[in-house]
Amino acid sequence: MAFKTDIEIAREAKKKPIMEIGAKLGIPSEHLLPYGHDKAKVSQDFIKSLADRPNGKLILVTAINPTPAGEGKTTTTVGLGDGLNRIGKKAVICIREASLGPNFGMKGGAAGGGMAQVVPMEEMNLHFTGDFHAITSAHNLLSAMIDNHIYWGNSLQIDQRRIVWRRVMDMNDRALRDIVVNLGGVSNGFPRQTGFDITVASEVMAILCLSNDLEDLQKRLGDIVVAYTREKTPIYCRDIKADGAMTVLLKDAMQPNLVQTLENNPAFVHGGPFANIAHGCNSVIATKTALKLGEYVVTEAGFGADLGAEKFFDIKCRKAGLKPSAAVIVATVRAMKMNGGVAKADLGAENVEAVKKGCPNLGRHIANVKSFGVPVVVAINHFFSDTDAEVEAVKAYVAEQGAEAILCKHWAKGSEGIEDLAKKVVALAESGAANFSPIYPDDMPLFQKVETIAKRIYHADEVLADKSIRDQLKSWEAAGYGHLPICMAKTQYSFTTDPNVRGAPTGHSVPVREVRLSAGAGFIVVICGEIMTMPGLPKVPSAEVIRLNDEGFVEGLF
Ligand code: ADP
Ligand code: MG
Repeated sequence: MAFKTDIEIAREAKKKPIMEIGAKLGIPSEHLLPYGHDKAKVSQDFIKSLADRPNGKLILVTAINPTPAGEGKTTTTVGLGDGLNRIGKKAVICIREASLGPNFGMKGGAAGGGMAQVVPMEEMNLHFTGDFHAITSAHNLLSAMIDNHIYWGNSLQIDQRRIVWRRVMDMNDRALRDIVVNLGGVSNGFPRQTGFDITVASEVMAILCLSNDLEDLQKRLGDIVVAYTREKTPIYCRDIKADGAMTVLLKDAMQPNLVQTLENNPAFVHGGPFANIAHGCNSVIATKTALKLGEYVVTEAGFGADLGAEKFFDIKCRKAGLKPSAAVIVATVRAMKMNGGVAKADLGAENVEAVKKGCPNLGRHIANVKSFGVPVVVAINHFFSDTDAEVEAVKAYVAEQGAEAILCKHWAKGSEGIEDLAKKVVALAESGAANFSPIYPDDMPLFQKVETIAKRIYHADEVLADKSIRDQLKSWEAAGYGHLPICMAKTQYSFTTDPNVRGAPTGHSVPVREVRLSAGAGFIVVICGEIMTMPGLPKVPSAEVIRLNDEGFVEGLF
């Protein structure tokens, strides 16, 4: 059976003018700032005027550990939003914006798939409303001001070997990972080593996504640690006096972007922090605005539930005071098979035993999410090759775990294929069963917070860390950062730090390689294993085949 590609479906979308989509949510047209006919930003004044309204119910979409088989979190987030609208609920979708650079490496969009997509998908995956360009500019302004400060005499006594603020761009370019700047003689400054990260890895991105408003944004920007003196005293962005100008550059980017689904339902697409060295969720301001405008808000967290949901709960919800009412864990028969040991090439053949063998990975995520006090339902994202017996095996397993798994066909059929899940989500949310709380308190010592995540979520026996790492955490506690949450950076493919260990392993150790302070964003990054903050392009990048065709349409992107 031949299916249309995501982009072919997206191009056939019967889009409504964005003002009409805004009107569905009661946003007056003077508060919608249009970027063309199908995208608009929502004004800060309007957002402020919503403060006293009650909140809708927040639904998280998360998943099992990702496998090369693909899970479809965004597809299910969009599908569920459409499904809730279909059964008469006023639902708003909140997802992340896409990074431009990776599109030119491997094919793949961030706007959902099949009949469950947000549009305009090409723009959303490229320049969109310019938010990432604004973040890049704000970040690099600070970089330029640091080198300029040193050039003009370095009155803050920055140790040039201890500058931690790098530069960013939204492109996969491994040539820029480690570079020397200020070459060329006296008039160009003092040579030093630095490098580029991709824009989504910028702390400015994480800050934009966690800030409540422009005042909060400027304060957090000011709190960024950019360098240290020889005595290791931190130098802040505020000391460089860059926070005001950075806020100016970010003023428009702080306004959430409204677009629509293929079924003309509203979706906010705003912010896109890395899911490893940052928390991997859309912006707090978009989520909070959506909660004021809709009865239901469906949002997604990056990677599997061990990383994405844990950070969504322990960082975003904790800091923004959000209380999720239910969580959907997306699983696929194919991914269960891969967890059960089947190779990707053999996924097409029925293999009920392998499905059963792979299910404990799902079971662990169900128990973990429940441990935050959030009720769970499993969405089986249906693929064409799934057999009834395989689907039944997943359902039976999930029932044994005290939850329900519901077969969803939104990819093929849109909202019509996901009504059952929508009804179940409403039942869970309205049952009042949710009693959310993060899994560790603010005042727990930092190392103990890491141990809590490793033991309770990953089912590890111990966390391994050198004395230097433990001392660093203690010195941050002494400096007043002990209350911050932890942002774990580890492989998304496994509960362990080894990407090849699938299933639900126990008894492993979690070695910590490095810890970093993101004082502006407000978390401590704990790095376990290799983390790439500037991706490269593959041997044959998709950029080689991306082109405009004779009708002026983009080809080769998706
Ligand atoms: P995630 O958010 O988990 O990374 P996405 O929702 O972006 O995943 O989906 C990744 C890709 O998988 C998309 O190209 C999408 O079209 C495809 N996909 C998702 N669900 C299905 C399905 N049920 N059948 C076939 N392809 C699917
Ligand atoms: Mg996604």
